[in-house]
Amino acid sequence: MRTVEYELMRPPEIAQARARLPLAFIPIGPLEWHGPHLPMGMDGLHAHTVAMEVARRVGGVVLPTYYLGSETVRPTDRGPQSAAILGFEGTERIIGMDFPDNPVKSLYFEEGTFAVAVRELIRLLKLDGYRLLVLVNGHGAVNHMRALQRLAAEATDPPRVRVLFAMAFLPPEPPFSDPGHAEKVETSIILATRPDLVDLSTLPPKGTPLRYREFGIVDGKAFDGRPTPDFTLRPDADPREASADLGRTVLDLEVTRVAAIVSEQAQALGLAAGRT
Ligand SMILES: [Zn+2]
Repeated sequence: MRTVEYELMRPPEIAQARARLPLAFIPIGPLEWHGPHLPMGMDGLHAHTVAMEVARRVGGVVLPTYYLGSETVRPTDRGPQSAAILGFEGTERIIGMDFPDNPVKSLYFEEGTFAVAVRELIRLLKLDGYRLLVLVNGHGAVNHMRALQRLAAEATDPPRVRVLFAMAFLPPEPPFSDPGHAEKVETSIILATRPDLVDLSTLPPKGTPLRYREFGIVDGKAFDGRPTPDFTLRPDADPREASADLGRTVLDLEVTRVAAIVSEQAQALGLAAGRT
C-alpha cells in the first residue's frame, strides 16, 4: 500500500484498505508544555509514531493526529497528582503542566469539549463501516484518560464494533502508574524520531538538579505521590541522559505491545489481521 495516512489517501485506496481490514487508528495528544527542550506536540507525535508502526504491522489506516487533550486543576491535598507533591505550596491553582513560570500555556480542552470532539470522530468512522477503532493516546492526565476510556466503552458494540483505548506508553511497573512527563523516555522518543525538534541546550548543564516546578519535567513516581525530598527530577529520569537508541528500544516495545492488543481484538471480531 502507498500509505496508511488517511488524509493522504484517495477514496479507492481507503475503500480497499477498509475492505481488507476495517480498522482505524486515531492518535491523540494535547498541545502541552513538555519542558523547554521538547515540542508542544510531544504526546501527539508519540501517539502518531506508534499508530503508524502498528498499522504497518497489523493493517488499518491512521487518521490525522488529534492535537486535543484535557487536563484539570491539580488536587490541593498532598496525594498523587497534587501540586504539593510537585513542590508547590499546595494552595496554588495549577492546571495540568501549566506551572506559574511557564512562558507558554498548554492548549488543554475542557474535558467535556474534548470528549465531544473525539466522540464525533468515532461516530463518523463507525458510520463509514469501521469495526475496530483504536484511540492511541500519548497523554497521561488522569481525567483525559478516563474520558477516553469512557468513550471507548460507550462506543463499543460487540460483536459488530469495538473501540479500544490504547496507551502509547508502556505501563509502568506496579505499584506505579504514571509514565512521567518530558523526562528521559519522552525525550528519547523524539530523539529517535524527530531529533531536530529537541534542544537540550535549553536545560542547565548535566549535574545541575532539575526542579519539577521550575522546568515542568516530572518523573512518574513523583506524580504517583513519591517525589524526591528536594522535588528535583530523579537521575534515572533525567532528559539530559536521553538517547535515540533508548527511544528506538522503547518505541519497539510500545509498538509490539499495542500491535498484540489490536491483533487480538481484530481476531475476536472475526477480522483477519495481518501485514498488508
Ligand atoms: Zn507527554
